[in-house]
Amino acid sequence: MFYRELGNTGLRVSEIGLGAEHLEGLPSAEVSAVICRALEAGINIIDVFMSEPQVRSHIGAALGSRRRCVVLQGHIGAAWLNGQYTRTRDPALCRTFFEDWLTRLNTDYADIGMLHYIDSEDDFDRVFHGEVLRYALHLKQNGTIRALGMSSHNPAVARKAVETGVLDVLLFSINPAYDLMPADAALDALFAPESYQAPGLHGIDPARALLYQTCLSRGVGITVMKPLAAGTLLSAQTSPFGRALTPAQCIHYALTRPAVASVLVGCRTPQEVDAAAAYESASDTQRDYSSVLGSAPLFSMQGRCMYCNHCLPCPAHIDIAAVGKYLDMALLHDGQAPASAAEHYRLLPSHASDCIECRSCERNCPFGVKVVERMHKAREIFGM
Ligand code: SF4
Ligand code: SF4
Repeated sequence: MFYRELGNTGLRVSEIGLGAEHLEGLPSAEVSAVICRALEAGINIIDVFMSEPQVRSHIGAALGSRRRCVVLQGHIGAAWLNGQYTRTRDPALCRTFFEDWLTRLNTDYADIGMLHYIDSEDDFDRVFHGEVLRYALHLKQNGTIRALGMSSHNPAVARKAVETGVLDVLLFSINPAYDLMPADAALDALFAPESYQAPGLHGIDPARALLYQTCLSRGVGITVMKPLAAGTLLSAQTSPFGRALTPAQCIHYALTRPAVASVLVGCRTPQEVDAAAAYESASDTQRDYSSVLGSAPLFSMQGRCMYCNHCLPCPAHIDIAAVGKYLDMALLHDGQAPASAAEHYRLLPSHASDCIECRSCERNCPFGVKVVERMHKAREIFGM
């Protein structure tokens, strides 16, 4: 495993990290198997954004005395209310749930404390000019968090935050589909360093390129979420490039952006950890993504579900990401859900048929997904 400096934090992190969100809902033994395999592979950074309590307890138990061997990213502003994830800017709730995060992970510090999921200007203003940032800075001052970070999907808002000078780390969604401008960029320009120098940007979305460059110049390390675009890039049918990329190609793409220190891959099984860690032994040819991106047609990821559940809470208690995942599986099979997907769908506590069409999810979704339309489709396919 190769390790990289995480900006100016003084932390050295494995270039492949673990995104723990897929561990939610697994029994303790299975969580432990994934954590152990990750540590064996040399992975030393884990993002634990989930507010669901049990999974955090399982991760804490799995780490045990090895807690100090890993860099843990915890989130300030992710809360668990009425049995669901929710994003909060209430200072008291931020405090309660961050303390709970520490308790369940059986630790008294987070290596990185993330201001959780700030995508809009309004939210940026609320957090950065209010109690939540003051609380986070207080945590940093007293050593409860070692570095201050922020998670975001919005390059303009993220850059604004980086330019305040208070952030050490940015957790940002990076993959080739999010990054590249349509069509008119020549391949050489897409990957040449000068492509990242404003104002002559082309190929990479200018706002994103500028963000990465700003992080690099300010010593803010980037950890990457959604490197595989929730698996969308791994299938020719769903890849906006019309061809499938491999995990190694996606990981390599993210690792070759400026300021990126670690790519956090979501894994649910030890085998998935092995597949992610296999990047380390992949050849240059296996990592090379240029042939796929070089033939990219016009595309957009807008409207595609990334299964992130940032749209919660849902008043009908629907796990929107899970419904979306099973729906997409069925759509990949011409609307015929594989038996396993249909069964998993049936076992969900709430279904598309429970949707009351309040559309709060559509307002919260960073990807402009038409959730209600998709709920109709899921109900049609699964019959509930
Ligand atoms: S609808 Fe949007 S917010 Fe919800 S899971 Fe899908 S991409 Fe994430
Ligand atoms: S529109 Fe439906 S799925 Fe979305 S939050 Fe409302 S009830 Fe939940």
